[in-house]
Amino acid sequence: MAKDTKKSTKAEELAKKLLAKPVHVAETNPADFAKADAFCVGYKQFLNDGKTEREAAKAAVTLLKKAGYKPFNAEKKLAAGDKIYVLHRNKAVLAATIGQQSMENGVRLSVAHIDSPRLDLKPNPLYEAEQIAYFKTHYYGGIRKYQWVAIPLSMHGVVVKSDGEPIEIRIGEEAGEPQFTITDLLPHLAKQQEKRPLAEGIRGEELNILAGSLPFGEKDATDSFKLEVMRLLNEKYGIIERDFARAEIEFVPAFKAQDIGFDRSMVGAYGQDDRVCAYTALAAEIDTQKPERTSVCVLCDKEETGSDGNTGLAGDYLFHFLEDLAGLQGANYHRMLAASTCLSADVNSAYDPSFPDVFEKHNSSFMNRGVVVTKYTGARGKSGTSDASAEFMGEVTNLFDREGVIWQVGELGKVDIGGGGTIALYVANRNVDVVDVGVPVLSMHAPFEVTGKLDVYHTYLAFRAFAGQK
Ligand code: MN
Ligand code: MN
Repeated sequence: MAKDTKKSTKAEELAKKLLAKPVHVAETNPADFAKADAFCVGYKQFLNDGKTEREAAKAAVTLLKKAGYKPFNAEKKLAAGDKIYVLHRNKAVLAATIGQQSMENGVRLSVAHIDSPRLDLKPNPLYEAEQIAYFKTHYYGGIRKYQWVAIPLSMHGVVVKSDGEPIEIRIGEEAGEPQFTITDLLPHLAKQQEKRPLAEGIRGEELNILAGSLPFGEKDATDSFKLEVMRLLNEKYGIIERDFARAEIEFVPAFKAQDIGFDRSMVGAYGQDDRVCAYTALAAEIDTQKPERTSVCVLCDKEETGSDGNTGLAGDYLFHFLEDLAGLQGANYHRMLAASTCLSADVNSAYDPSFPDVFEKHNSSFMNRGVVVTKYTGARGKSGTSDASAEFMGEVTNLFDREGVIWQVGELGKVDIGGGGTIALYVANRNVDVVDVGVPVLSMHAPFEVTGKLDVYHTYLAFRAFAGQK
């Protein structure tokens, strides 16, 4: 037997030549883990700094400024190699490096989103019940409600006071600060609750946040528990109850990003969908020096609610920016779009061996097999998809192969099991070639999501290669 295995058979030789074999990045690129691990130090910091779209936009601008990016001025001519940025309505970021070639030859777009599923406060959130003060919430994006109870939460956002002054709030992230939580039933009394279907295990109106349990003055006075919370908020931020109506307050998991596993091969953190693509795309954009074609990195908002609104990519701001760029060079905007290409950067569901039923193994993405290239998304018969053309799939995957980027294909689960969309169609609808790429994620949309560091690193390499950065 041993003799036979030494010499590969004809079938084995042919298989090597013709068949696609899944690869694990640790096997094909054993030297990459140290680089991936080092890259993820900055990534984890970015996750901790930016737990909401506003904070992530701010963290991105800090990195851009440090790298020499200047605020974009639509009146000022730009030269090849210039680096500019736009902070759009405090919730989205556009960053670009001007290319050697005319904009009319197209730009290279990398687009990721920086909003993540979370709990927003309702406009009139504060109430008390049985001598406890609470906040009412309205969840944002696709959450599994039962995952958001009995975990530590932190409070983030902005309140605009009656005089128009915006007050930034961030409580529960620094050591020594209080945190928040939502209660759940004890198992002893949960017999009825446990009969509910999982989707209703915790209902929307049960996602009430513990805000305080001490009264102001007499405990029997009307609303004294609510009043005490308001008094403390007023003392610290100068706000009154009415100001919640002119606020955006988001409660998110208070956990910090962590290494996961004995080998520290994974990152566990809140909001990796899609800040993992935001950070990798941004890092690649910052690395890009004198590209042939102008590179544009877009960190957008509102993907988790369908991309609508003036900070979502179904809106016009990115395209107005591109039109301004074209205008500065006297380039034809429509021809610029037609020649442009885009990586729609969003996470995909990693194959989870604990839940094999929802995945189709031949077309799933797996942790640590590299950046996922997703030709199409959508639901049922590819409804709501931008289906990348064979030509563009060829262009992108051949580029990745040439540049040593390890990539895999992946669909979001079995046909007809579910589905999901990305921003790809909003860019493709403007006559741009677009394909989805991203990082496979375990526990996607959970308060604590898991990615593989090797995938994070190869996604970064993918954006670099796309921008033409060696
Ligand atoms: Mn996403
Ligand atoms: Mn998502």
